[in-house]
Amino acid sequence: MIPSSQTTRNDAPDVLIVGAGPIGIETAIELGRRDLRALVLDAGAIGQQILEFPPATRWFSSPERLSIGGIPFTTPSAEKGTREEYLAYLRQVVDACKVEVRTFQRVETIVPLADQSGHRVTSTSLSGLQHVIDVPTVVIATGGTARPRQLGIPGEDSPHVHRSIGEPHRFHGRRVLIIGGKNSACDAAVLAYRCGARVTLCHRGQAIHDRVKYWIKPELEAMLRSGQIEGCFGMVPLRIEPDGVVLRSLENDATRTVEVDDVLIAIGYESDQTLLQKTGVQLLGSEEAVEHNPLTMETNVPGMYVAGTVVAGTQAKFRVYIENSHVHARRIAAALSNSEAPPEPVYNDLPES
Ligand SMILES: Cc1cc2nc3c(=O)[nH]c(=O)nc-3n(C[C@H](O)[C@H](O)[C@H](O)COP(=O)(O)OP(=O)(O)OC[C@H]3O[C@@H](n4cnc5c(N)ncnc54)[C@H](O)[C@@H]3O)c2cc1C
Repeated sequence: MIPSSQTTRNDAPDVLIVGAGPIGIETAIELGRRDLRALVLDAGAIGQQILEFPPATRWFSSPERLSIGGIPFTTPSAEKGTREEYLAYLRQVVDACKVEVRTFQRVETIVPLADQSGHRVTSTSLSGLQHVIDVPTVVIATGGTARPRQLGIPGEDSPHVHRSIGEPHRFHGRRVLIIGGKNSACDAAVLAYRCGARVTLCHRGQAIHDRVKYWIKPELEAMLRSGQIEGCFGMVPLRIEPDGVVLRSLENDATRTVEVDDVLIAIGYESDQTLLQKTGVQLLGSEEAVEHNPLTMETNVPGMYVAGTVVAGTQAKFRVYIENSHVHARRIAAALSNSEAPPEPVYNDLPES
């Protein structure tokens, strides 16, 4: 039988935070500064979403915009930071601020307590150990990028179809079709090419996206012009076969088959709002953005708050990043300590993201 454990009300924290991404961690820091004890549970490691970025991914945002809890994130080069530098920063911040985190602890359910004094949170560890904890307040900071978007075409689940470039070395000597026209796809095209792959980039638009990082766009465009990377623009994939992908022109419906060894689909992510749904939190529209009070970040479920990119669900209307989520942490801490809240979050696109 799987053992289980229960945290009693006496040793329970004031606030349980689901998600140890940058904003979940930042919320714990802000709460700690107001003498509120927070416990953070994460289904993976701290910064799990960032851990899943390909090696050496460079942030869009300047280091100061990614700093959490006012603790400077600096890089050796004073340039924009990498995945590895930011993960090291998160580890240091968690340790230095004594943030209480339990990693590899997936929250499965959150239900109201019968006496209305809070919530019962049930989580499961990697080894299957179940833990139950009763807390007055819960903050959901589960992010907005739970799974890659699907194309919905035959062959998408084949073993030679990848969702992240991972370690690009594996593409040496292979014919790789990359589907997408934004940062991840463009980044991957350049990396795979440099690792000795024969790369074809397929995008429904007539060119790569305008906002591709300035340190990738000119180089990739030059590679496309010179034919080092083949571009199939204004085309969409119809089906993926073991040795090729059938593409259709959006202009005239003509089809062509590109021979491939590997396919990389890099068309963005979707959120998973199941936990919020199960707890009765109101979700809006097809993107499943979270209905909440922007001054306090409280949802329609009393004592249940949201912070970070989870707020926008599968991002369509809003653009919520780390950059413009810091205020969520301060608002929640202000609301829970009855102190003055900082100004309302602004969800406009910011110059750097
Ligand atoms: C390639 C790439 C580049 C990016 N560049 C930038 C940039 O330059 N600037 C910027 O501001 N943003 C950028 N972003 C977006 C940024 O990474 C995310 O917005 C950021 O990680 C969001 O932080 P968060 O704390 O809201 O959520 P996340 O970092 O997504 O953290 C959510 C956490 O919740 C955990 N979790 C989920 N469900 C459960 C559960 N049921 N139980 C327990 N834990 C759970 C996850 O394991 C995860 O660790 C980028 C994203 C990508 C993919």
